[in-house]
Amino acid sequence: MRKPSRTLVVTTLSATLLAACATSPLGRTQLKLVSDSELDQLGATAFQETQKSTPLSTDGRATAYVNCVANAIIREVGGSWEVKVFASNDVNAFALPGGKIGVYTGLLKITETPDQLAAVIGHEVAHVIAGHSNERVSQQQVTSVGLTMAQVLVGGGIAGGTVMSALGAGAQYGVLLPFSRAHESEADLVGLDYMSSAGFDPRQAVALWKNMAKAGGQKPPEFASSHPSDATRIQQIEERLPMDVPLYVKSLAAGKRPDCKRV
Ligand SMILES: [Zn+2]
Repeated sequence: MRKPSRTLVVTTLSATLLAACATSPLGRTQLKLVSDSELDQLGATAFQETQKSTPLSTDGRATAYVNCVANAIIREVGGSWEVKVFASNDVNAFALPGGKIGVYTGLLKITETPDQLAAVIGHEVAHVIAGHSNERVSQQQVTSVGLTMAQVLVGGGIAGGTVMSALGAGAQYGVLLPFSRAHESEADLVGLDYMSSAGFDPRQAVALWKNMAKAGGQKPPEFASSHPSDATRIQQIEERLPMDVPLYVKSLAAGKRPDCKRV
């Protein structure tokens, strides 16, 4: 029996990829190969793992504060979300597919107002709603398909050593890779829309990133890893303010002003 030709393999792959293209909230083309239920499962597992390794905060006021800010954002985006506050000095927060939000108490020291905390939570929730995890996992799957194709090439007698090592380097990019710059910028801007709709002042996002820049020195948290430089990120946020400040003013007029007591 003849082996499938290389052309056939490539064509089949292209068809699969085309079928899985989606568009992000800001109009970017996305590759999404994973089902929502699979992603939700990954999210739930990651959330359980975090709860095994990091204690939950026993500070009722801190927990109430985080829930107050998170719930105001959740009201805007809809869906069912679980919020946990972790007792850790790490300046960090995350959101996971399947509606999970985690905030570390260390973040509460750096965020000077509820609006600044809302900027971080809005950013994290935006990663989830924009499907960024799906893109990352999908990229990894494509890399795996690439490896299989390389093996086909090797089997066909083509000197494949170089191809294998080239693809092998790519295969190191996996689920746990920090979000890309494109994802970070998108999460910043979409998150800014969420916080503004919820009645938090979007100008405080600029103050937040200035604080983060000042606080520097420690290990960068998720929302500051891999990233647009602070200057680029602040500039991009400022460029969106003419759209989001009026949205915030409208939210206030509609009676949305979350009364969250900072601890
Ligand atoms: Zn991020």
